[in-house]
Amino acid sequence: MERIECVVIGAGVVGLALARELAMAGREVAILEAEDRFGTGTSSRNSEVIHAGMYYPAGSIKARLCLEGNRSLYAYCQAREIGHRRCGKLIVASGPGQLEALRGIQARGLANGVQDLQWLERDRALAMEPLLECEAALFSPSTGIVDSHGLMQALLRDAEAHGAAAVFRSPVTGGEPAAGGLQLEIGGAEPMRILAGQVFNCAGLQAAAVARAIRGVPGHCVPAVHLAKGNYYSLAGAAPFSRLVYPVPEAAGLGVHLTLDLGGQARFGPDVEWVDAINYDVDPARADGFYAAIRRYWPGLRDDALQPAYAGIRPKLQGPGDANRDFLIQGEAGHGVKGLWNLLGIESPGLTACLSLARMLALQAGLCPV
Ligand SMILES: Cc1cc2nc3c(=O)[nH]c(=O)nc-3n(C[C@H](O)[C@H](O)[C@H](O)COP(=O)(O)OP(=O)(O)OC[C@H]3O[C@@H](n4cnc5c(N)ncnc54)[C@H](O)[C@@H]3O)c2cc1C
Repeated sequence: MERIECVVIGAGVVGLALARELAMAGREVAILEAEDRFGTGTSSRNSEVIHAGMYYPAGSIKARLCLEGNRSLYAYCQAREIGHRRCGKLIVASGPGQLEALRGIQARGLANGVQDLQWLERDRALAMEPLLECEAALFSPSTGIVDSHGLMQALLRDAEAHGAAAVFRSPVTGGEPAAGGLQLEIGGAEPMRILAGQVFNCAGLQAAAVARAIRGVPGHCVPAVHLAKGNYYSLAGAAPFSRLVYPVPEAAGLGVHLTLDLGGQARFGPDVEWVDAINYDVDPARADGFYAAIRRYWPGLRDDALQPAYAGIRPKLQGPGDANRDFLIQGEAGHGVKGLWNLLGIESPGLTACLSLARMLALQAGLCPV
């Protein structure tokens, strides 16, 4: 049976960033991807925002990796000429009742080390974005946007240039501990088994199912994953703002915000719709909720200006109404299986944090120099 030093399951942005990190450290790496190309999952169904790091609790993995990831991602995009723009973002309080929550975000940002947040009274915010309506705003200059496809393409190219191999149409269907690592079962047209020294389960929405399919991982060690769908609507015509505009966050999401793509087109979303199964259709009936949410900060939104666009699904470790949970990075200490790493609940800011998460994991696994 073929033996490979490191196997990364999943060619989303996280698996690709990790494969790159490991390959650049001189490790032998295979990426096993169920689909016929990279990035068909959550990594191509998100807001493409490079977050600055003010939303997550101080000391959380999300906060640390978001801050580090923000800097590394800008540097990487510049070095590899990946489309991106440091456009900045405004988080807006829509009435006096939201000022305290906005102050809370500012304080949390400061506690996390986000140094450049600026509090803007209404007049200053409107001077920046004349079509905006708000009581006050928080300006984050280091928030930006990135071409997520270009990013994944560059990560894969780097990984391959350092010897990694991506194998598509290769779903991992199970595995078990074996001498020298883990024996993995791969389905697809030509099912096979391989022996892997270390396995990194970066299967996104399927990561918990993959973890459960590895014999020796106790069922109680793998948390339930709750699916929180986020729907997007696109805007016909010119974008009203030149920066991203976010409301004060809602439970389980950042609120229906305006993001821009690199061509300057505006889209709104994602909302939060708890679902039982993966389905990316956008229900046109949800438009009413979007109009109401957007008009709180952009009263000029015309009737019929929104069209259903696309959806993504967040793999959340918390269910509706539960407190927010951190990323869960599970090594042997978490489940008892040597050489297996499960990445669970990798929702936002997973895109921003892909490089820092990859680095942290490679260090934890002892596979790259400090
Ligand atoms: C609505 C929404 C908006 C978001 N907005 C942002 C944002 O603006 N900024 C930000 O930083 N983050 C954002 N995120 C989070 C970010 O998109 C994710 O954290 C990130 O894309 C996760 O990447 P991943 O590689 O873990 O997962 P995925 O991209 O889902 O990749 C997992 C891969 O594993 C493969 N796979 C699954 N099962 C198997 C198997 N058995 N064998 C082999 N392969 C398998 C899948 O086919 C897939 O290619 C958002 C997420 C959502 C849902």
